[in-house]
Amino acid sequence: MLVVMKSGATETEFERVLKKIESFRFRAKISNDANCTSIDIIDGDGSIATAIFENFAGVAETIQTTKPYKLASRNSIQKKSVVKVGATEIGGAELTIIGGVCAVETPEQAFTVAEAVKKSGAKLFRGGAFKPRTSPYGFQGLGEESLQILAEIRAHFGLQIVTEAMDNEQVDLVEKYGDMIQIGTRNMQNFSLLKRVGKSHLPVLLKRGLSATLDEFLFAAEYIIAEGNRNVVLCERGIRTFANHSRNTLDLSIVPAVQKVSHLPIIVDPSHGTGKNYMVAALARAGVAVGADGLLIEIHPSPENALSDGEQSLLPEQYLELVKQVKAIHDVLSPVEV
Ligand code: PEP
Ligand code: MN
Repeated sequence: MLVVMKSGATETEFERVLKKIESFRFRAKISNDANCTSIDIIDGDGSIATAIFENFAGVAETIQTTKPYKLASRNSIQKKSVVKVGATEIGGAELTIIGGVCAVETPEQAFTVAEAVKKSGAKLFRGGAFKPRTSPYGFQGLGEESLQILAEIRAHFGLQIVTEAMDNEQVDLVEKYGDMIQIGTRNMQNFSLLKRVGKSHLPVLLKRGLSATLDEFLFAAEYIIAEGNRNVVLCERGIRTFANHSRNTLDLSIVPAVQKVSHLPIIVDPSHGTGKNYMVAALARAGVAVGADGLLIEIHPSPENALSDGEQSLLPEQYLELVKQVKAIHDVLSPVEV
């Protein structure tokens, strides 16, 4: 943060500002130019609000100069990060498709969808074992049994497994069976869970919170990276707004916004972002056009019988057609550097 002093600021006024900075255990660097003198607060972690200095005598204005999340920001790493899930790269030249089922219901259901995912050329399979349901009476997932089915899918199709953990114990299980840990929207600010996955050897797919701002989203990523796990992929999955024509409002503007300030890859989930089968393809195409590194798509062999998220699930043949379309869009855009 920069504290710009008025041209006639007195020495006592300077001293007061410097003492305050010292009281937060941060260092200050004074710079003079022809028009004004300013004090740069260095070592700051963003915890001091600019407002604190605004009412100090002698202060002309305060300016937030750097992003307070350091490890997730482009100030720390200028080049885009590529996150590896097994041999698959997210954030590199190729578009990443994560296809799969909302919840693993039966081996047949999961294998049918995995077959379509494999056929599409995608490398990552998503299947829910622990489901964060709004109602406690909703299908909660098959737990470890699902993870065993997912491990069979990996062995059979050579697909890498992405699956959600909602607490620390579930992270232990996902580490045993899976290849990437999903943190769902409802847990984006579950800080002890973020710290736990920050210690994991597996990459993390971090979904944006239902009402999270860009800064809150990146702070959540910062929690993970600060524990040592740099392999974080962000996922826009829609936010809660007044609009009720879709389940959530897919906020595609967050993609270039993230890319401007962060080096982390970001993918788009048009399934939860819209909640409607008929909207998924349109928003998936838009997500790729806006520059996302990949997509997360839910598929079900008979959506009307799905135990969760049937309304938004694509049929395998709809999914296969969509993958063709988004690959074509990505090919047109691939020379564009972000
Ligand atoms: C899911 O991916 O099935 C899921 C529950 O996602 P979200 O956390 O975005 O609601
Ligand atoms: Mn779902």
